[in-house]
Amino acid sequence: SYKAPNGANGQPKRQKKIAVLTSGGDSAGMNAAVRAVVRQGIARGCQTYIIREGWEGLVRGNNTEPTPAATAATSPALGPTKSVSFSALPPSQQLSLSSGALDAEDGSFPHGVNYTDPDWIAPLSDAPLSFGYGELLKDGAGEGDIEELSAHGAMGLAIADKEDEKGRSLKGRYIVRVGWDDVRGWLGEGGTLIGSSRCPSFRTREGRMKAAQNLIKYGIDCLAVCGGDGSLTGADMLRGEWPGLVQELYENGQIDDEQKEAHAHLNIVGLVGSIDNDMSMTDLTIGALTALHRICESIDSISSTASSHSRAFVIEVMGRHCGWLALLAGIATGADFIFIPESPPKSDDWETEMCDLLKSHRVVGKRKSIVIVAEGALDRNLKPIKPDYVKQILVDRLGLDTRVTTLGHTQRGGKPCAYDRILPILQGVQAVQALLDATPETPSYMIGIQENKITKVPLLEAVAQTQAVAAAIENKEFDKAMSYRDSEFREMLQAFQISSSLAASNHVPDNKRLRIGMIHVGAPAGGMNAATRQAVRFCHNRGHTPVAIYNGFEGLLDDNVSELSWLRVDTWTTRGGSELGTNRTLPSHDLGQVAAAFQRHNIDALLVIGGFEAFHSVLLLEQARKAYPALQIPMIHLPATLSNNVPLTDFSLGSDTSLNALVDACDAIKQSASASRNRVFVVETQGGMSGYIATLGGLAVGAVLIYTPEDGISLKLLQQDVEFLQKRYTLDVKGKSEGRLVIKSEKSSHIYTTETLTKIFKEEGKEIFDARSASLGHTLQGGVPSPLDRTRAARLSLRCMQFLEEHAVPNAQHLKGKRHYSIDTACMIAIRGSKVVYANMDEVLKVTDMKLRRGTDEWWADIKRLAEVMGGRSGLMASS
Ligand code: ATP
Repeated sequence: SYKAPNGANGQPKRQKKIAVLTSGGDSAGMNAAVRAVVRQGIARGCQTYIIREGWEGLVRGNNTEPTPAATAATSPALGPTKSVSFSALPPSQQLSLSSGALDAEDGSFPHGVNYTDPDWIAPLSDAPLSFGYGELLKDGAGEGDIEELSAHGAMGLAIADKEDEKGRSLKGRYIVRVGWDDVRGWLGEGGTLIGSSRCPSFRTREGRMKAAQNLIKYGIDCLAVCGGDGSLTGADMLRGEWPGLVQELYENGQIDDEQKEAHAHLNIVGLVGSIDNDMSMTDLTIGALTALHRICESIDSISSTASSHSRAFVIEVMGRHCGWLALLAGIATGADFIFIPESPPKSDDWETEMCDLLKSHRVVGKRKSIVIVAEGALDRNLKPIKPDYVKQILVDRLGLDTRVTTLGHTQRGGKPCAYDRILPILQGVQAVQALLDATPETPSYMIGIQENKITKVPLLEAVAQTQAVAAAIENKEFDKAMSYRDSEFREMLQAFQISSSLAASNHVPDNKRLRIGMIHVGAPAGGMNAATRQAVRFCHNRGHTPVAIYNGFEGLLDDNVSELSWLRVDTWTTRGGSELGTNRTLPSHDLGQVAAAFQRHNIDALLVIGGFEAFHSVLLLEQARKAYPALQIPMIHLPATLSNNVPLTDFSLGSDTSLNALVDACDAIKQSASASRNRVFVVETQGGMSGYIATLGGLAVGAVLIYTPEDGISLKLLQQDVEFLQKRYTLDVKGKSEGRLVIKSEKSSHIYTTETLTKIFKEEGKEIFDARSASLGHTLQGGVPSPLDRTRAARLSLRCMQFLEEHAVPNAQHLKGKRHYSIDTACMIAIRGSKVVYANMDEVLKVTDMKLRRGTDEWWADIKRLAEVMGGRSGLMASS
């Protein structure tokens, strides 16, 4: 049996107790954050608690006294199932900790977690790990006691206020110990299952005193708070006042000497759950992307009816001080005009500005008009801009049949999108790390994400910066407000303005005008059309000519080439597949003919959109430049492939759409697997020789096993995995077993195919579990591209066009030998964190495995290990 390790004084070391709460407005992904904190907490040897109903629950506490077991320094693991210990984990398999990974480099700017650092996942604890449920009853848990309450994890809370026949309930209980299985199935649930509220009493010292007393009563010394800036301000306030609160409780006789000593310090960490994406010092908040999904789905539906009836729609979206949702929705849906708080319309007479623009769109033949208004939209004089007024203007001045739609609470979420499952998991894990690392000297941290790295930043600083944006807007300092937003926000705004403006004022002089070729190469991927649309709109905005090359290089050789109008691409943001047509033929098929075709069509610059073949094409064209002057033009590759196997870039267009398609399919499959209680589903994904989709998808759907081409499959591994599944199903509470997912990338093994794997699991599962398989195949290309892919497409495409414009020489000067092109004019555009970089072909080649068609160094390579911790495999197999 487990014995807690001794501390410095020879006494058993106190087991850390971590509680997690959600507060303020709910957002999709909060459940994933709670699940991650709970599971990582347990994996690190802590006791874990949830606090229901946010700060309110903490202030109220429980109407029953905690059991001795709950307050003991090292209470035994709870739950009806057996415990396993990590202690047997051989050192070679123990994941070691890089404690410095999150420390500030120079004391001011946070260092992110580097996923490629082999140590970024913290070591598992050698304390017992319970796979059972938590203490959802009045007087401690016993075998089988809590089955009813926790029928499917969340259920214990959903029926929280109802007593069962034994008189057990959560009525009046807000601080509840939870186990590993309480949080199963939470990844796909919207909102927050543990409840949230606004709590006026927590704003008072008295309320916070009660909260402190409750934390101490349960021995909780670590608190993770998921909420918006208000909730996190409250958290920091509690932390700041803590010593005073403890002293006062002691003096009032509400806590004893031992409690006073044990709770001299409270560790707090913040996770940002907010749909507005309004928190500074983090690129994205939990729930914002899901809200964007809901908005885009609504506007996509509205767009078709608007077009049918030639109507205008004014759509109000959330965002009091932040126009992120309105701006990104505007780009993703191809809206005509947007109003956001940070960047009001340029002129005082914005009514005319808007009408002129919408009229110009109608003049070229557009049948619909979409205007998006952020909740907090203002004019330059801080006068609110409201949808009804905008509608009236459109009716009065343009005579448009105009309707107003307020999206309201539909935006709050529902089912979290793929990234709103991945982000909270990564952040929840780091939140536990931050809590365990905290000392009385360290500030409270907020866990964020910057440049695709999970960061921790001083909570107060982030809150102060967030409030500074609102203050700048109030002071009419709009440039300042915009400067507080990240560069991505500013580039998105520019992309939107360029794509919706038809004015000739931005045209370059006649002698600088270019004919820019656009081609799709490889397999279709979500966002290809949106990127092409942005490129075409850029050309029209600057006076260049967009030249579409249909059907890839084969089409080029057939002179399947034509110019694209502004209107022709209008609806392309929402179109999946490839409007230009695409195939895998490389230019090496006939380089001479390709060069001749470029010359025939007077192509001055080339945008190539696609996956690995697209990169290969640019590489071949670059290498052929010496021989063919017609190829001495600037060219740029914009990565677009669902496999995300293009080297150097963190993300390619289409990979997010594909992850979402996988998550949707797996949610449905899991439901069926759970209905039959004990079924393992082996789900096969595409992805070529890259395990990106399988790995990130597996993390997002809570797969228990993931197979990738990078790691392959061996007999030994299979044997262990079968053993794991047998153990895991045996540990399930009787009759409460669940379906489980195994994600297998199609090229993980030639021998252990999906069919073979499924047969092995079926055979070895015997009476314990059953197995079935499903192949997602081309469904992974997704239907409608995800909002993230659409907006990324616009931003990246804009940067590609700026690159081509900067390096091109018009009027076929290159054919006259006037200019020598350097390698730096044949590039790939790559997302590196939240930065966009141009890398020339040599730089890309250095990190490319041409044979396996993938990068040599992937940022996500290690996430599979994290998925194994979250799915329980690491912990369970460590005991064998
Ligand atoms: P949202 O982004 O949805 O508005 P939020 O966390 O900012 O989320 P708030 O209503 O501002 O939502 O705050 C939630 C709760 O946090 C409040 O009801 C209150 O209990 C607590 N809180 C907010 N601000 C403070 C503060 N300054 N001091 C103490 N507690 C606070």
